[in-house]
Amino acid sequence: MTLALHGLGISRGIAIGPAHIVERDQLDIPEYEIDAGLIDDEIERLKEAVMAAQDQLRAIRRHVPAAAATEITALIDAHLLMLDDAALIHEPLRLIREQRRNAEWALKSQRDALVRVFEEMDDSYLRTRRDDVAHVVNRIQRILLKHSPLRHEQPDSRLTGYIIFADDLTPADTVLMQHHGIAAFVTEYGGPTSHTSILARSLGIPAIVGLHQAHAYIRDEEPVIVDGTRGVVLAGADPTTLEFYRSRREQDQRYYSGLIRLKDATARTLDGVRIELQANVELPADFDNVLRVGADGIGLYRTEFLFMNRDVPPDEDEQYRNYLGAVQVLGRMPVTIRTLDLGGDKEAGDAGRRTGSLAANPALGLRAVRLCLKKPALFRPQLRAILRASAAGDVRLMIPMLSNTQEMEQVLGLIDEIRTELRAEGAAFNPDLPVGGMIEVPAAAVCADIFARQLDFLSIGTNDLIQYTMAIDRVNDEVNYLYDPLHPAVLRLVHGVIAAGSDAGIPVAMCGEMAGDVRYVRLLLALGLRCFSVHPASLLEVKQIIMASDLGELGSLAQRALAATCGADVGAIVEEYRPVAA
Ligand code: PEP
Ligand code: MG
Repeated sequence: MTLALHGLGISRGIAIGPAHIVERDQLDIPEYEIDAGLIDDEIERLKEAVMAAQDQLRAIRRHVPAAAATEITALIDAHLLMLDDAALIHEPLRLIREQRRNAEWALKSQRDALVRVFEEMDDSYLRTRRDDVAHVVNRIQRILLKHSPLRHEQPDSRLTGYIIFADDLTPADTVLMQHHGIAAFVTEYGGPTSHTSILARSLGIPAIVGLHQAHAYIRDEEPVIVDGTRGVVLAGADPTTLEFYRSRREQDQRYYSGLIRLKDATARTLDGVRIELQANVELPADFDNVLRVGADGIGLYRTEFLFMNRDVPPDEDEQYRNYLGAVQVLGRMPVTIRTLDLGGDKEAGDAGRRTGSLAANPALGLRAVRLCLKKPALFRPQLRAILRASAAGDVRLMIPMLSNTQEMEQVLGLIDEIRTELRAEGAAFNPDLPVGGMIEVPAAAVCADIFARQLDFLSIGTNDLIQYTMAIDRVNDEVNYLYDPLHPAVLRLVHGVIAAGSDAGIPVAMCGEMAGDVRYVRLLLALGLRCFSVHPASLLEVKQIIMASDLGELGSLAQRALAATCGADVGAIVEEYRPVAA
């Protein structure tokens, strides 16, 4: 009998393959007393497990593909350093010696104590260490309990074609898995615009989140079908169902590979209006993909991925080389570098969400430009690196999460100071570096006209704009159902921002996920959007729709959509204007 499980499809496409269950966090840790005569053996067992964990990590490090993002090796190095630190096992050794506890339990007790300390901390970098401690301890415990190492971390393991089932995945896990050629992933937690989901889409693999209890129904190695478009997992499929999905997968593949013919075509509507079609990138490995799909440049470079999974932030020179790398790949095309947007779901997964008033709502907390302005030692090197890279090409700087004009003015002031510094040092930079702002907080959207007076461009971040407008946490699958890009409030805000930019004579782009969703391309064109920034995996499909659209015919779409009273009605109107192929 075919079993169908439903979650939220967050990256389209069909995958068929065996399941691989990642059981990272579900260790049953036994607690027992050691015989007095066996204490030395237990101590030896713990030390050997630590050494085995080091060997595992070194092996992983050696096999990280050269093209993989630097944050993966940085994460592994951070874990190796922790294993090297005697302090990690000092307390467990004492518990074994003095209280005759078993090694696994002694480690658990130490981990819980450290996690409590980290959770109290008012420093996002230090708080991210909490998950590192948990991962390192988990690795040693798995060895003590003789669990096999996690397969996606094993360089020689063959996960090609597998469908990964996990509670949750970090962005680094997702990247590592991609190098194994996995076919799809399914997680219990996470929302459509969590950064792991965004990464899945940009890697172009089908993915589903919010599929609860998959563990209870799916066995390791069991053949399953994942329909990332509809958010369905099928197990025990009969031959007819299997055949149906095989042929749909082939149709999909033919369709997407056929789109490459549009790579060199200009994104122009049927009535001749040129639309700027740029790409979003997260990792340096994506720079080439921007060219592969023929994008008009980078509309959003999420630089925080450079800062994640490491103890020490990249210094100015490392950042400079990285930004210069983007410019060198892109040539004369624009490279829009967004300044650091750490915080929210982009630190240690759910860091701090469980306890402590400070981070109870990380999405509403100290993230993005707020964090940067509070920590000039973190922010200034990035501003300097971006300015220096601007000497080499069409670099643009974009400020995330502006909520009031003081923040904008403070950043503009810092940029001015740095210009003076660089001039004094004789360093080259573009004195007219365009500075833009992301409009992703409703307060900024309502006042977009005010921001537009001082900025060179605006870019609408719908992922956050929708999260904040609807008062939902974008990574919380329990309130995902409220995530509605077509809600009249969202449409009015988007429309207002586009109009404010046009009145001020500055360009307005959209770089949130809404821009890359083929269902909304015509609506956005109708609302006046002329610059889209989307991940490379959906760029050609968006281009195809643009090229099949006539703006003259879309005038009524904007009018009708803006007059509708609920998202469902807007959806029905949008459906009427949907191109046949999309
Ligand atoms: C957005 O909020 O829409 C956006 C593009 O930024 P991020 O997803 O990185 O928060
Ligand atoms: Mg955002």
